[in-house]
Amino acid sequence: MTQPVSDKWIKCISDQGSIRGVALQATQLVRSVASMHHLTGIHAEVLGEALMGALMVASYCKTGEQVNLNVRGSGYSSQALVDAHPDGAVRGYLLPRSREEAFFGEGGDTGPWGVGTLSVLRTKGKPGTQPYIGTVPLVTGFLAKDLTFYWLQSEQVPSAVGLAVKTEGDEVVAAGGFLIQAMPQASLSEIKAIEQNIKSIESLSEDLARDADPLHLLAQIFQNATFMIVQETPLKFKCHCSQERAERALALSGAAELRDILKNERKASIRCDFCTKEYTISAKDLERLLASSA
Ligand SMILES: [Zn+2]
Repeated sequence: MTQPVSDKWIKCISDQGSIRGVALQATQLVRSVASMHHLTGIHAEVLGEALMGALMVASYCKTGEQVNLNVRGSGYSSQALVDAHPDGAVRGYLLPRSREEAFFGEGGDTGPWGVGTLSVLRTKGKPGTQPYIGTVPLVTGFLAKDLTFYWLQSEQVPSAVGLAVKTEGDEVVAAGGFLIQAMPQASLSEIKAIEQNIKSIESLSEDLARDADPLHLLAQIFQNATFMIVQETPLKFKCHCSQERAERALALSGAAELRDILKNERKASIRCDFCTKEYTISAKDLERLLASSA
């Protein structure tokens, strides 16, 4: 019996600096976020892919930056929204669609996300700086493949991405993935060798269920090429909602609406989409919000 590996990403670079990669294991994280949102089966799987995809983008961002991944699709989810940070913190939710209502392209042959768009917004840490946004169409409906396309099209970096979530019954039993990128000085033979090693992975989800250690996944991908570990970061769910933010969101609906709630319901409830926490805004708070909006 092997010890369970805690959720983390491991970043590495080949000794020549020509190939870099990140591998992650996020089983507990995906399991807890799926259960928080009451998602099981294919819906837990696609949410897990989105969480890990955003974390992969965040792993190559600078401290203080934030990544917002927004996937709109016609498949098992109409939308997934995920915020991820370079310190390994992530939150996200997904709007599920039933199997009957899902659409998988004219030929019915796309991946679980169907057709739609994939947007990545990167916000810089410093206030006043322009965010960077890249949007690509979902070409295959498989998030891993479409992220590969995103990196090439939006950031001109040739990449290979693998994402896998395995569920058994209502439970997530394995979640992990990898992102491997070729730097400009990478030789064709180096790239070919890595590609070959990635192709030899028959089923990423089965491999992860057997051995979730990201280091072993990197070793399998790099094989004979020497690599150095540059960072190991634990992953965690973190939501930054608060009573104050809930009040601010409510105040946006305007004074007339606030007066209306005060007159009829006497209080308001706001639920955070990301962590499902409920906030109650009392009559007293509503009066205060009204006074400050005048
Ligand atoms: Zn929240």
